[in-house]
Amino acid sequence: MRDLKGNSDEPQQYSRVSTRQGREVSGPVAVLVEDLHVAYGTTWALDGVDLAAAPGTTLGVLGHNGAGKTTLIRTLTTLVRPTTGRVLIDGLDVVTHAPTVRRRIGVTGQYAGLDDFLTARENLELIGRLTGLGGRSRDRADALIDRLDLHALAARRVGELSGGSRRRVDLAASLVGSPSVLFLDEPTTGLDPIARSGLWDVVAELTGTGTTVVLTTQYLEEADRLADHIVVLDHGRVAARGTATQLKGIVGGKRVTATVPTHHLVDLPFRPDTDPDRHGDTARVTVTVDDATTATAIVSRLDRAGIPVTDLDVTSPSLDDVFTHLALTGAHR
Ligand code: ATP
Repeated sequence: MRDLKGNSDEPQQYSRVSTRQGREVSGPVAVLVEDLHVAYGTTWALDGVDLAAAPGTTLGVLGHNGAGKTTLIRTLTTLVRPTTGRVLIDGLDVVTHAPTVRRRIGVTGQYAGLDDFLTARENLELIGRLTGLGGRSRDRADALIDRLDLHALAARRVGELSGGSRRRVDLAASLVGSPSVLFLDEPTTGLDPIARSGLWDVVAELTGTGTTVVLTTQYLEEADRLADHIVVLDHGRVAARGTATQLKGIVGGKRVTATVPTHHLVDLPFRPDTDPDRHGDTARVTVTVDDATTATAIVSRLDRAGIPVTDLDVTSPSLDDVFTHLALTGAHR
């Protein structure tokens, strides 16, 4: 383990990665975490985390309740001090350069405070003045209202807005200081699918213009859609990491789900992954196979065994399957 002696004179680490849109990005690592430990009393909320995010990419941080996501975000945003280990934002240590780091980051979610009695525009202008933009605050508010298409909301009091609209104003507020790294803490929790999708578009556009995004989410689909790279935390450690495609590769193969009559369960030509899901006279059975060719063969064998299939799905693993797999196997522990 390393003592907390990091400083910005150390050489910045460089990275070169390709994003999910196929963009090649390189430069100093925007977020670098090395052997990070954070203890609350005798509880190790983070127990040796290493990760990195290249500029202009989105890093997804996933994990069950209590896995350490909030502690990680709070440490990256200078609100919690590492017990040991090193955290750099844009090459700056979060402990020794905390004020500079704070000027370079934006945070949405549970920490952002909007004034319910002010309009969306007034909130953005106020934040601009508080962060030292002075006379430029109005222009900055206008630019963000344009960029996030907030025209219909700009003159309304924030306290009267729907959850989805409020999230968009919250996101705009976090962008007032033109952050180079933006932290989105569960940005779409509770939003309807259309509002969620709208926010995803804005986030994708942000990374396209060079902002680095660190995202925590309960929605695995959100990480699948946005994140270039994902780390899965469990008990304060990295349980798995990679692109969404690489993580799905942990589970691998194809999943065949068939609905068959219950009395035919004894005739199945394969052993299902789990106990059949019974509904009256029918049961859903699932089996994971190596590839599409084997999936086709399984379906043929059901037919040859004379088992009438009333519903059939052949799917690739989702991030949910990765989560279930990690929980069941405990492979990382
Ligand atoms: P959730 O999804 O429920 O928000 P999380 O992944 O964000 O969970 P953390 O809130 O970072 O997880 O918590 C990690 C561990 O640290 C948990 O065991 C939690 O009980 C513990 N913990 C978090 N904050 C404190 C605190 N202030 N004092 C003591 N223990 C804490």
